[in-house]
Amino acid sequence: MAYSTACISVSAETIQHILSEKELHILEGDIPSPVNPPDGCKFHTRCEHCTEICRHVVPTWEEVSPGHYAACHHMYELQDKWKEKKD
Ligand code: SF4
Repeated sequence: MAYSTACISVSAETIQHILSEKELHILEGDIPSPVNPPDGCKFHTRCEHCTEICRHVVPTWEEVSPGHYAACHHMYELQDKWKEKKD
């Protein structure tokens, strides 16, 4: 099997797996330009949790567990929401 064929086949299988396991969450909003990224958090144009600070201030990286980092102004409150949802 050619390398490109194998890659495409894995991608198709992965997409099929995702579709069969859970509903996809479709992001709305404008895709940020990698050439001219927006101010603040680079994801704010598509993030449903975006607030005013996200539009203007770049979030800083924080170590959330040993060796794992995240940069989000609202990560702790969102983490609590995800935990509640999971339980
Ligand atoms: S900082 Fe967090 S909540 Fe704000 S836009 Fe970025 S990812 Fe979303």
